[in-house]
Amino acid sequence: MNRILLLGAPGSGKGTQAAKITQNYGIPAIATGDILRENVAAGTPLGLEAKRYMEAGELVPDDLIIALMNDRMHEDDAKNGYILDGFPRTIAQAEALDEFLAKSGGELDHVFYLTAPKDVLIARIAGRRVCPQCGAIYHMTRFPPKTPGVCDVCGAAIIQRKDDNAETAENRIDVYERQTKPLIEYYEKKGILMTFDSALGSEIVQAKIDEVMAA
Ligand code: AMP
Repeated sequence: MNRILLLGAPGSGKGTQAAKITQNYGIPAIATGDILRENVAAGTPLGLEAKRYMEAGELVPDDLIIALMNDRMHEDDAKNGYILDGFPRTIAQAEALDEFLAKSGGELDHVFYLTAPKDVLIARIAGRRVCPQCGAIYHMTRFPPKTPGVCDVCGAAIIQRKDDNAETAENRIDVYERQTKPLIEYYEKKGILMTFDSALGSEIVQAKIDEVMAA
C-alpha cells in the first residue's frame, strides 16, 4: 500500500511529482486544488463558496475541505493508496486525516516535503501554465509545450491559473508559511517526513523519491 503525502509551498513541485508517481506506480493523485477548480468551473455550491478564497490566495475553510476529502478518499480508486497533493494544509485538516486513517486502519507511508527559496517559488508560479483538460503542467521558459499555447498531451489550449500571478503568489506563500508550515513539525514528530530540495530540479527529486519508494 502506498499512502503518500506531498508537502511544500505553492510552486515547490508537488503537482509535477504527483503526476510522475501516478505514472510510475498507478496510484491516484488527489489534489484538493484541482477538485476545487473543477467545482468552481461547474458552478457547484462548493465552487461558489470556494472561489473568493482561491482568488485571494487564502485557504478555503477547513470544514468544507474536510467534508470534500472525506467523500473523495472513500472512492473506489483510493482503496489501494493515493498521493495527497495540497491536503492537509492546516493542523485541523491533518488531525481530520489522522482520524480518517485510524478509522480505515491505515497510516501514511511517506511524507515528502519539497523545499525551494521564495524567489524560485514566485518565478515558477508566475511562469506556470496548465492544461485545463488533462491537467498537464508547463512553464513558459523552463518547460514550454512543443507548440506554443497547446498541450503536448491532449492538444487543448493551455491557460494560466487565475491565482498564478506574482501578487497572489506572494500571499499564497505567506499563507503557507503561517498555516501550513506547522505541519512540517507535525509529521517530523511522527518520524515519516523526508525533505527534498526541489530547486535541484524535478528529475533529481523524482529519482530520490523513486529510491525511497523502492526501498
Ligand atoms: P493549489 O492548487 O493546491 O495551489 O490550491 C489552490 C487554492 O485552492 C489554494 O490557494 C486554496 O485557496 C485552495 N485550497 C486547495 N487545497 C486546500 C486545502 N487543503 N485547504 C484550504 N484551501 C485549499
